[in-house]
Amino acid sequence: MRYDDSPPPPESASSVSPDRRRFARRSTLAVAAAVLAPTTLAGWVLVQVTTGAGADDARPPRSVVPAAGAANASLTPPESPAPSASPVKTPGAGVGNALAGKTVVIDPGHNTGNFKHTTEINKKVDIGTNTKECDTTGTTTNSGYKEAEFTLDVSRRLRTALEAKGLKVVFTHDGDRTWGPCINERARIGNEAKADAVVSVHADGVSEGSRGYHVILPAKVKRGAADTAAIVGPSRTLGERIAGNFARTTGSAPANYLGGGTGLVVRDDLGGLNLSTQPKVFVECGNMRDSKDAALLTSPEWRQKAAQGIADGIVGFLGG
Ligand code: ZN
Repeated sequence: MRYDDSPPPPESASSVSPDRRRFARRSTLAVAAAVLAPTTLAGWVLVQVTTGAGADDARPPRSVVPAAGAANASLTPPESPAPSASPVKTPGAGVGNALAGKTVVIDPGHNTGNFKHTTEINKKVDIGTNTKECDTTGTTTNSGYKEAEFTLDVSRRLRTALEAKGLKVVFTHDGDRTWGPCINERARIGNEAKADAVVSVHADGVSEGSRGYHVILPAKVKRGAADTAAIVGPSRTLGERIAGNFARTTGSAPANYLGGGTGLVVRDDLGGLNLSTQPKVFVECGNMRDSKDAALLTSPEWRQKAAQGIADGIVGFLGG
């Protein structure tokens, strides 16, 4: 959470409870859809986000998906080749490894040192559509396990899995700096690497009872340095691949507090997405403030499953 923003205000439980049961039912349906998707292409449709409950941000996330885009947002089966709509290059005839020469940039959300560098991370940076804090501290579990520790651990596991497939992996940071990088620099690293896919790893920090994962997709924005028109489509494909595989490897359900049970949320307020010129998504692996989700997030075995699901989604997106 708080990857891009000032800390959110405390959430009121009463503001979310009326919708939670409905989302819980949708979650069940969405899981069923995810299981069926590889054979049926059953609907995995982005729906309007109607509640700000559990926002990982200073203001509620909102869907900005145009109706036409939503209608086309079906889940792509994890094991089939990337769709033709993707700008990802397909291998030439006779080439055996579609992943050869491709680069993935992994962005471990936050930095464990950000707590000690509030002046630096609170400095505003230009994200095209707005200005935002350079970086944020991230959340923790109630027992003090930092989101920044979690994101780095999952990212390193993810790197191992991707490198085993022959992919080149670049990190935005690897626990090798005392704070940051700023969100605009995180985006620039992916852009300059000409990454075929970029994934920012996070976990959320909302109220007890809010559970599950979600993948954040870039909205179409064009202002200042932000122009996401070219990445909206492929980023959605990447996100759908990751969501489906993450559900499969972890057994987790899509978030029950936003995204309408789809596990997918579109946002226009994140600098890390707005400034990206390469296909990019954020993965919120679970809610660190929920006791049941925290038990998963603090488990090395579960983090391995999470990393494997993300890796499988990326590999599928890249045609491997
Ligand atoms: Zn975060």
